[in-house]
Amino acid sequence: MATTITVIPGDGIGPEVTDATLSVLEEAGADLEYDQQLGGVAAVEAVKDPLPEQTLDSIRHTGVALKGPLTTPLGSGFRSINVAIRKEFELFANIRPVVTLVPGQRYEDINLVLIRENTEGLYVGVEHYIGMEGDPRAAAESVMIITRFGAERIVRYAFEYARDNGRKKVTLAHKANILKFTQGLFLEVGESVARDYEGEVEFEARIIDATAMQLVKDPYSLDVLVMENMFGDILSDLMAGLVGGLGVAPAANIGKDVAMFEAVHGSAPDIAGQGLANPSALILAAAMMLDHVGQREVATRVRKGLRETLSDPRTRTPDLGGPATTSEFVDALLENVR
Ligand code: ATP
Repeated sequence: MATTITVIPGDGIGPEVTDATLSVLEEAGADLEYDQQLGGVAAVEAVKDPLPEQTLDSIRHTGVALKGPLTTPLGSGFRSINVAIRKEFELFANIRPVVTLVPGQRYEDINLVLIRENTEGLYVGVEHYIGMEGDPRAAAESVMIITRFGAERIVRYAFEYARDNGRKKVTLAHKANILKFTQGLFLEVGESVARDYEGEVEFEARIIDATAMQLVKDPYSLDVLVMENMFGDILSDLMAGLVGGLGVAPAANIGKDVAMFEAVHGSAPDIAGQGLANPSALILAAAMMLDHVGQREVATRVRKGLRETLSDPRTRTPDLGGPATTSEFVDALLENVR
């Protein structure tokens, strides 16, 4: 029986890259049915609500969502629609594989995975201004929250991921030398979880700034990386840069009951509707989704087709220095996934 998934095309280049992705999934033989739902500005225009209850109900029901980028409308009462969805379904793990698909980048054959904690850290939104001497914004304060529960859950996820995917090493990146309480707790919990995997998966702890340098100097010395929310946000863009940029960077957000797959990039309003968008990131996210729902053969076909299409400079989109429009790229890819 076909698996039903929720599809949210989203804003800006979202509908273009979603159309492209669905046509590739169909050509590759994915056994899926789609429940199309609204979110972001598109949802405000249609039903005056950036995150309609119907969309949330659909995700609750299917447990799997493929999501285009959502723009958070100003004054909507949301800090970020994307963060609101992650919170609603407690999508605690953000998985970002960084794999070379386009030859001729800064490095060849990169194969890394970043696992970012998605619910805690500085992104909990506990912040305020402090007024002094007539200046209501003389100072500002943001609170970083790390819990033993949250740290244990994400580090354990990283080790399980490493073990299930034949990975050798987990690197925990932290700043415990300065943030002794929050980052210190993250490190302490990480070291304790690592002991459960001794002999199976190697463990190392590295200071976050040294990790950033290592990623640029010798990315081959790393494998699976795990870190708290904001460090993960920053390093995942750095890592996307190692393999060609945002156009080829997918992400999975995993919770206990729901998994949501998306591109790392945003809605790119500057290029929307011009046939310039590179749909590869969402297509790679869809391949992760196929793995998740047990259609691994189809996922492999999609990745292989993408690799072939991206290895030909004539069928690359402009963000990768190529001349192809979105539809020319997709036409070439459809040939390669059959
Ligand atoms: P948002 O506010 O939704 O995050 P943004 O434009 O600020 O959108 P991104 O959409 O992440 O940020 O992208 C930054 C720039 O990178 C875009 O303006 C666009 O030029 C380029 N870009 C991002 N994604 C793609 C893509 N899939 N294909 C081609 N170029 C892209």
